[in-house]
Amino acid sequence: MKNSTRFSTLLLDWNRNSNDRQMPWKGERDPYLVWLSEIILQQTRVEQGLPYFLRFKEAYPTLHDLADAPEDDVMRLWQGLGYYSRARNLHHTAKHIAYELKGEFPSTYHDIVKLKGIGPYTAAAISSFIFGERQAVVDGNVIRVLARVYGIELPFDTTDGRKHFSHLAQELISAEHPGEYNQAIMDFGATVCTPLNPKCEECPFSKVCVAYQKNLISELPVKSKKIVKKERYFYYLVLKNDKEIIISKRSGDDIWKGLYILPYIESDKPIRKNIAQRLSEYLGQKVSVAGYSKPYSQQLTHQSHQSVFIFVEGVDLQNVHIDGAMRVPLDKLSTFGFPKTVYLFLVENSLL
Ligand code: SF4
Repeated sequence: MKNSTRFSTLLLDWNRNSNDRQMPWKGERDPYLVWLSEIILQQTRVEQGLPYFLRFKEAYPTLHDLADAPEDDVMRLWQGLGYYSRARNLHHTAKHIAYELKGEFPSTYHDIVKLKGIGPYTAAAISSFIFGERQAVVDGNVIRVLARVYGIELPFDTTDGRKHFSHLAQELISAEHPGEYNQAIMDFGATVCTPLNPKCEECPFSKVCVAYQKNLISELPVKSKKIVKKERYFYYLVLKNDKEIIISKRSGDDIWKGLYILPYIESDKPIRKNIAQRLSEYLGQKVSVAGYSKPYSQQLTHQSHQSVFIFVEGVDLQNVHIDGAMRVPLDKLSTFGFPKTVYLFLVENSLL
């Protein structure tokens, strides 16, 4: 389909006639709430992100409320959503806008994209939805739609591929209704031109869609690289007595920064022997193993985690001197934010 106006007309007609996807942030005029929804929805399905958006909106109805919140509270509210740098950046940028920009949310794509934690996609969404700027969003949904309609076989995860899809998206976006167009293409990719079993029979592009006409739907879009996941084995230590438990705050550049975890030993392969000895060495005191939890498995984009929690016996909590470790009362555990696997373990073992 050569004519870009025709593409946006078909898409906007579809949006006006058949798109009834209701989202609480649709039609929102506050850039803070649009930003919040876009950050929550990165790498996250709508069904999973929606309750988080509503919780954040209730806890922090304005950008100033978020800026003034303690970091631990923000992280705890984000608990379970993953990709925790999003929460840290959100909080950092809220403070920046509230205090350095005097509460004034930047109003152009150029200025929005400079904010920490805001990439081209989110900047395009905010600048088009709120400020009417003609900036096309480009994400997996958009790439899939364009690759199929236009039969693009260039791998999208290469420099050339990225440039090609960005230019095409920018060429196609409606000049009159850029915000509506961006929302429409996001919804169209999420509900009609889905990765599996797209609804081609009811699709307004079916007569011109190259993938549909040439039976290439499952081949498009093309990706060049396969992600090789890093395997990580975590052996968490349950160091507790009747009243207290040891936890530690994550810092450094690894995942979960800002959240709390149980102390752990990590390996790149399963540890099968001498666990008690390794624990004693790690803790600097002689301990024994009272039992193991069931295994927990978690898949992240670039990492695969296998975790086991070890119930440790004979530990003197006052003499645990691991980096960052802190003794906390068991009845205060719920005031800390934990990554998903640790949270699940604590809940399943009635510790939370
Ligand atoms: S015809 Fe099918 S593959 Fe082509 S854009 Fe429509 S839903 Fe996607």
